[in-house]
Amino acid sequence: MKSSEYSGFYKLPVEKRDKEIQEFAELTEEDVKTLLNFGSLGEETADRMIENVFAGHTLPVGLATNFVVNGKDYLVPMCIEEPSVVAAASNAAKIARKKGGFTAKTTAPLMIGQIQVVGIEPEKTEEKMNAVLEKKKGLLEFANTLDPILVKFGGGARDIEGKLLEHNNGKFILFHLVVDVRDAMGANAVNTMCEKLAPKIEELTGGSVVLRIISNLATKRMVRVSATFPKEDLGGEEAVDRIVDAYTLARETPYRAATHNKGIMNGIDAVVLATGNDWRAVEAGAHAYAAITGKYKPLTRWWKNDDGDLEGVLEVPMAVGLVGGATKTHPTAKVAVKILGVKTAQELSQVIGAVGLAQNFGALRALAMEGIQRGHMKLHARNIAVMAGAKGEQVDKVAAKMVEEKTIRVDKAKEILAGMQAQA
Ligand code: NAD
Repeated sequence: MKSSEYSGFYKLPVEKRDKEIQEFAELTEEDVKTLLNFGSLGEETADRMIENVFAGHTLPVGLATNFVVNGKDYLVPMCIEEPSVVAAASNAAKIARKKGGFTAKTTAPLMIGQIQVVGIEPEKTEEKMNAVLEKKKGLLEFANTLDPILVKFGGGARDIEGKLLEHNNGKFILFHLVVDVRDAMGANAVNTMCEKLAPKIEELTGGSVVLRIISNLATKRMVRVSATFPKEDLGGEEAVDRIVDAYTLARETPYRAATHNKGIMNGIDAVVLATGNDWRAVEAGAHAYAAITGKYKPLTRWWKNDDGDLEGVLEVPMAVGLVGGATKTHPTAKVAVKILGVKTAQELSQVIGAVGLAQNFGALRALAMEGIQRGHMKLHARNIAVMAGAKGEQVDKVAAKMVEEKTIRVDKAKEILAGMQAQA
């Protein structure tokens, strides 16, 4: 049996790592060639980004058109492997722009860092918490000496909140450090402040700090986006009612709410990824926020307005940046930001929110009106055709034939392809 135990793998150059993997997994020379394609990232940058790098991985970036957010036009790069998402976003944005497009607002870019203090006598926890809060001003000043660049750009530590919590072993204190992170996602900035504040908090409380880390439930860094979709473009008021009915199910059952929110994240994640941001952070924040009341709920609300048009609003935490992380190291991400033309992280989060709302509209409309599979499978048919071995012009021909025959499967695609080849 082969062993996966490997010492010093990280020390090898990329090609050597691939040789080792080739031997282990019996890869062909062609496989190795595939692995060594690093696309726009380049081997050197990739190798610096994470550990044990042995390959690049490319995903398509599609362009969502028609977006107007707060009166400004945007072309939106979306990086995603799923067909029909980009088309649905563009289509929704086209309908929304008839009523002025998307209106978006953000809070200040405030992130929360958590500092957990244990080991204090239960009857003294409140007194010790207050001892820290009394020194808040000095502690915040100290935190701000740790990131002069952030302060220079108008950000910095803003507040410390204290809370007493109980668990099996007694009471502990939780401090929330609130930091304005400006155009950064902020995790490194906030984590550094929390770590450096920890000894000072231990001194003031006599307790021991355990966790000191950012929270991805960024409730102080929210984006709110709304839009109106005219009834004439949806098929009249009856269609509006059906879409509102479809939304209502998401309010009533988490089984639907999960899928409803997944559709929203199709849009959000694709832009987050295209701009080199941390989509796991955004995902974690979104789902935690969806469950913040104790019941998992949809991130959007939909209703029919007095004119009979469909109106929707999305509210979601949005921790994205234009500096830090991969945003400034990934060449394609940098160009994506250029295409978007956003100047601040807040503006970026507004566009991302608009795409999330557009996506949700697209999914609800398709589900309520014709079922999602028709449009989805039409686009998916091209993937199936490629899987069956179709090349060039054959792809569209095989896909069209499968749609016509209402059977979109690899075996069907192979059959159509064989028929075409026999005729040629
Ligand atoms: P960072 O530390 O790379 O960059 C932020 C820094 O850039 C700021 O602290 C500031 O000094 C400087 N800066 C320059 N211009 C700025 C401007 N206009 N506005 C704000 N700051 C400016 O990155 P970060 O944003 O602190 O952290 C993001 C990274 O942390 C991501 O890669 C993320 O994946 C990772 N991370 C995430 C988590 C989490 O989400 N739980 C935890 C740890 C790390």
